[in-house]
Amino acid sequence: MKILVLNCGSSSLKFKLLNMEDSTVLAKGLAERIGMAGSVLTYQSTGLDKQIQETDMPDHITAVKLLIENICDPQFGAVKSLDEIDAIGHRVVHGGEKITTSVLIDDTIKQVIRDCFELSPLHNPPNLAGIEACEQNMPGKPQVAVFDTSFHQSMPREAFLYGLPYEYYEKYKVRRYGFHGTSHRYISRRAAQLLGKNIDRVKIITCHLGNGSSIAAIKLGKSIETSMGFTPLEGLMMGTRSGDIDPAIVSYIMEKENWTSQEVNEFLNKKCGVLGLSGVSSDFRDVQEAAENGNFRAQLALDVFAHDVKKYIGAYASLMDGVDAIVFSAGLGENSPSTRWNICDTLGYLGVAVDPEKNLYTGSAETDISRWGAKCRVLVIPTDEELMIAMDTLDIVSA
Ligand code: ADP
Repeated sequence: MKILVLNCGSSSLKFKLLNMEDSTVLAKGLAERIGMAGSVLTYQSTGLDKQIQETDMPDHITAVKLLIENICDPQFGAVKSLDEIDAIGHRVVHGGEKITTSVLIDDTIKQVIRDCFELSPLHNPPNLAGIEACEQNMPGKPQVAVFDTSFHQSMPREAFLYGLPYEYYEKYKVRRYGFHGTSHRYISRRAAQLLGKNIDRVKIITCHLGNGSSIAAIKLGKSIETSMGFTPLEGLMMGTRSGDIDPAIVSYIMEKENWTSQEVNEFLNKKCGVLGLSGVSSDFRDVQEAAENGNFRAQLALDVFAHDVKKYIGAYASLMDGVDAIVFSAGLGENSPSTRWNICDTLGYLGVAVDPEKNLYTGSAETDISRWGAKCRVLVIPTDEELMIAMDTLDIVSA
């Protein structure tokens, strides 16, 4: 079975075509600047040259049409005809409280995605546009929606409610939703397999540390807590997001700077975090380099980040009454030995003991970087959200 996976943003569309017989990628690419001047599609079938087309893409319908033409191209395409593609899996950011699993898309599901526009104004509208573009270009092809929020719907009330009047939860849906769910689900399942244990029997803390970062406590296969909240702004300090701050700081800064709510929101999402603290960059590689060259603020940003992650790990271990494995994933978690080391250096009380040699590994294989016999294993597992989306799509359309 061949499955097309789409991740649609407001002006971009990322895609991968996967062969589910062996989970290999047959083709991948990206449409950029959709609806703007200078739109461009980059397409590559595995093993063949990259194709770059600068062509007008006024909307997602045109982008999907162009993508299909590339996939089916007789010279550089990955399939002979559209008939070879069995189904389409979509990344959808917000499913609110109604959606707890991946689902086959129909009018009801499209309405649920629409109902969540207010909760995810930047992502849900283009996610739906991508679904409708596929309906137009590939009528009748089954489509599945895989939500970032659905995995965290297993959180108990005490984890998802804030200390606000209960009416705000009822009236305005203000609660913790959590994000990166597809990644946390994928890496926790891979971790259980790597440990040789059933997911229903292990307690895992998954650390998705990229430009956006979040941590989840996964007890017996279910997410029981996660660091991102009502929006992805909460939790760890990130590349450009502040993460947790005293909420009173928001109105204080607004008054000082004479900012609107939109301006302060933009500030907290785009100008803070590692970028704001270091004054160097949002990219950890630049910040690490600056710190090595003696930049005080860069070192401070790295220290605050490691401190935050440690704090969450401690909290989540206490919520689960222990932890069998800690998993590092995403850009930083997979590639930065120093970050992993600085996080794990005081976790001996949990039974963590990272092997300094094994920790230096930065390849793409799944690796256990613990010392022999350590009670709590520390694993590095490259995340693969597209594969998880394709696996869900396969399960649903085969059923
Ligand atoms: P996104 O959240 O955008 O998907 P990624 O998971 O790709 O992000 O992670 C991007 C982050 O990972 C960047 O801050 C980058 O600096 C960091 N990163 C990638 N490779 C390395 C590395 N070798 N050392 C340190 N940080 C790295």
